[in-house]
Amino acid sequence: MTVKDCKQALKESIIKNMMSKKYNFKQAQFFITVNDLASLPQQSIKEIAVCGRSNAGKSSLLNRLTNQTRLAFTSKTPGRTQHINYFSISNTSDNSAADTFLVDLPGYGYAKVPEKIRAHWVGLLSDYLISRPQLVGLVLIMDSRHPLKELDYTMLRFFSSTGKPIHIVLSKSDKLNNQEKTAVLHLVKSTLHDDGFTNFSVQLFSAPKRQGIEDVESVLNSWLYSESSISDKECLHDK
Ligand code: GDP
Repeated sequence: MTVKDCKQALKESIIKNMMSKKYNFKQAQFFITVNDLASLPQQSIKEIAVCGRSNAGKSSLLNRLTNQTRLAFTSKTPGRTQHINYFSISNTSDNSAADTFLVDLPGYGYAKVPEKIRAHWVGLLSDYLISRPQLVGLVLIMDSRHPLKELDYTMLRFFSSTGKPIHIVLSKSDKLNNQEKTAVLHLVKSTLHDDGFTNFSVQLFSAPKRQGIEDVESVLNSWLYSESSISDKECLHDK
């Protein structure tokens, strides 16, 4: 078998595997709330973080993604809104082997927050985003009517320095007509390209209309399965 044939065979088997296996976001379960980096889970399992300005629609997206209102309720419980909330997810139908965390980051951009607390969140968020090896990608939610606010850019800059992918979800798309939807998608893509961002994707989303959930799931699944890379070394060993 040539190296080329081997790579092709491996590629086909990985694609087949990816199509048959999917993470079951509907079975997400609350795992832990943390308020400092030292308390982050020790497990070396993959994490996907979700962030956005307060009121952008993060809880509504989590509700739709996980098909339960309890998770977002948990995130909104007083005392937990400014913490990092971990939810476990699994790629088995009964959630018996949770092997990934969905990480709900605190909403940013509250108007009336004392500077000391604001500085704590920004420090917590940026440290987490930059220094967490388990993190495989970031979902950034922005209201499709008000995208790319200054703090969104701050998050984008922090995270893009890691080289990991960012998926931008433009929420509340039901508030836009078709022309506006096309325009905002174009605006966000072209602005980020012009600003030198490369590893990102963008989609529209509507919680009440349940539009865009499959797109979010497929991006998350692609991140979770993307480490099955094929190296020449593996192929040569198989010869
Ligand atoms: P969070 O603060 O980012 O968690 O935002 P929420 O999910 O709590 O949403 C803030 C407000 O926006 C709530 O009143 C939601 O009902 C509303 N909202 C969220 N997503 C959508 C959406 O896709 N369409 C519409 N029309 N309203 C939304």
